Order: sequence, then C-alpha cells, then structure tokens
Amino acid sequence: MERKKFVNFETKLIHEGYDAEQYCGSLIPPIFQTSTFTFETAQQGERRFTNEEEGYIYSRLGNPTVNILEERMAALEYGEAALCFSSGMAAVSATLIALTKTGDHILCSQGVYGCTFGLLQMMKEKYGISHDFSSMETKAQLLEAIKPETVYIYVETPINPTMKLVDLQMVAEVAKERGIPVVVDNTFCSPYLQNPISLGCDVVVHSATKYIGGHGDVIAGVVIGNKEFMKKIAMTTQKDVGGIISPFDAWLLLRGLKSLAVRMDRHCDNAEKLADYLLSHLKVREVYYPGHTHHSDFAIAEKQMKKPGGMISFSLKGDKETAQTFMNELKLIKIAVSLGDAETLIQHPATMTHAVVPKESREKMGIDDALLRLSVGLESWEDLRDDIEQALEKV
Ligand SMILES: *Cc1c(COP(=O)(O)O)cnc(C)c1O
Repeated sequence: MERKKFVNFETKLIHEGYDAEQYCGSLIPPIFQTSTFTFETAQQGERRFTNEEEGYIYSRLGNPTVNILEERMAALEYGEAALCFSSGMAAVSATLIALTKTGDHILCSQGVYGCTFGLLQMMKEKYGISHDFSSMETKAQLLEAIKPETVYIYVETPINPTMKLVDLQMVAEVAKERGIPVVVDNTFCSPYLQNPISLGCDVVVHSATKYIGGHGDVIAGVVIGNKEFMKKIAMTTQKDVGGIISPFDAWLLLRGLKSLAVRMDRHCDNAEKLADYLLSHLKVREVYYPGHTHHSDFAIAEKQMKKPGGMISFSLKGDKETAQTFMNELKLIKIAVSLGDAETLIQHPATMTHAVVPKESREKMGIDDALLRLSVGLESWEDLRDDIEQALEKV
C-alpha cells in the first residue's frame, strides 16, 4: 500500500512516513526495541535474504521506527531516500567513505567541521584519497580548483564559526557541467531554512544532534539523496561499518522534528534581535550574522536561506582573557559546544572547537582570540540580552 504523501513542510514534519492504522492506531510511532525479526518459515528467511520478499531481518539492516524517520527526512529535504546514523560524524564518514576510492579527490569548502577535517586527513593518510579547500566564491575559482580526479564537492554553509556562505546554486551548476556530485552538510540550517537538493545539489548530510533533535538529548546523523547513492551507502558503510541509529534515538528525533518549524522561527527571531543588539554595543568589535546587510554574503543568504539562522558569532574588543571573563560572567547563557538546543549556548572557538587549528591558520579563517559563537536558544530574547549586557559591563 502506497502511503499518503504530504506537500507542505509543516505537515510533513508531523505526519510524513507514518500511518497510525498500521500500528494499532497508536498516535505516536512505536519504538521497535528489537535487535532481530523472526521469520515464519526457513523459506521466508531465504526470500528476505535474497530480496525476493520485502521485510525486516535484523535491526542493523532496517528497523520500522528508524524507517519512519528516514521517510520523513527524505521528504523534508526533497530527496528520494534517507539513511540514519548514530552520530553526524557516522553519517559524514559513511557517505564520504562509501562514495570514494584510492586516488580520488574531494574538493571542500574553505571551512568544514573539525572532525570532518580530521576524517579527510585520515582518508588522505591511510587510503590515498586527497582533498583541497576552496573558498568557492566564483565559478572561475571553483573550476580552477576542480581536478580530473575530483569525484565529489563537499560544502558546508554557513561555515562555522565565521558564518561565511557558499552559493549552492552556483556550485551545483558548475558541478553539473563537470558531472561531479555535490554533498552538503546542512546542519546549521536544518531542512527548514535551506534545501540543498532543491538548489541542484545531490546529497545532504545532517548532524541531527543539533536542530533536528533540537532538545540536546540525542546524538545522531542523517544522509539524504537519490535512491542510487543511498543504496550504495546502505549496502557498504551502513551495513558493514555499522554506525546505525538506535530505535529510541530515532523516536526522539521524530518527536523533536514535529516542532522544527516553530522552533526555527523562534531561534531566528531571537538571533536577529540579539545580532542587532550586539552590533550596536561599544564593547563588540564585529558581529558575524548573515542577516546583516553589511555581511559579505548577505545576498547569498537572501537567495538560498529562508531566514538567516539561529547562529551568531561576535568578537569582543580585547583578547582571550576578555572573552573568557565575559563567558564566566554569564548567568543564563550556558558555556557549551553543540548548537540548536532550546538553551542558549556559548563557546570560544579559539580554545574549544578550533583549538587544534594553529593560531596562524585560525587568524586567516577570521577566528581571533576574542571571537565567541552563540547558539541562540528559545528563551525570552530580553532575558538573553540582559544576561549579555550585565556580563559585558564586567569586561
Ligand atoms: C556537530 C556537527 C557535526 C558532527 O555531528 P555529531 O552529531 O556531533 O557527530 C557535523 N557537522 C556540523 C556542521 C556540525 O555542527
């Protein structure tokens, strides 16, 4: 039986991929907390293994709760299929390893998540799969960076923590001409703010730990793309490396997803107000927020993002000590890495997420010692502003 499909994003968040009738009328998808599935006969087991009959075999190869989430995520990112993993990095590594072989080259945006950087380094050293970084600002720049052995273009936008953007439509156009698929880490936007597949890209990866889960209580990842790519990943790195999601974590994500649209609207509204407030403050040297008209990539944000997002970076007038004093004085805002939670979180890239990057490279990336990254939560924005205000008074 073909399941009903939904058109509007907000309805998909709540209903796509699930039919209560198939599950005793249970309003909420059940958690299929089972490692394996019994076969009625030996012959049925044989048919399942030879793909003559559809059905579940073993939870590493497929689980009903996880499948509901996969169907929902595929619909939200306008892809044909999705696969879920135990972490964002399990999703990123399963994708990059499944789709490359020795001798291949991956072209990456100028900034990528720290552990993705580590993975690329490992792939180069252990398996001879090389990579380069490009700021991807123009078509010419991108064309120049593509090598004959480039098999994938890997993009993160907005780039953490400087909030630089990459024009996904432009990258997709160049990549199509060259027949190179584009993989996008869409974690900072969530499917509510940006849909890379609709812009011509091929594969989307998410750390579902962030906005998709949205409540800071689960670590998980998702990959979305066409059936062919997803089958390749499912039959290789997902099945044989095995970083699958647990049914309970899939259930937590299904629960978190329902409020994604309303949460994102609030994250974005709060961020916009705080970004304006920070910009006007005398102790703040610079604010990096793609919703500001003076941001270098404001036009790209307008073009490809529904709203400028819930992440702000800002630099204080001062040094590392200034930044650390400010953080220690905060009372409501929590000092923590990660993002996309209901709680507003602040971190110090130079000594935390980007501590492994040498100071000189950090400065080239625009990460000075007084730069702070704020994941704006769902609290009253006035309370957040007041907390920042009282902490700034003390530096
Ligand atoms: C957090 C994050 C990851 C890694 O996800 P985990 O769930 O922590 O493994 C990858 N990319 C981006 C942009 C992230 O923010």
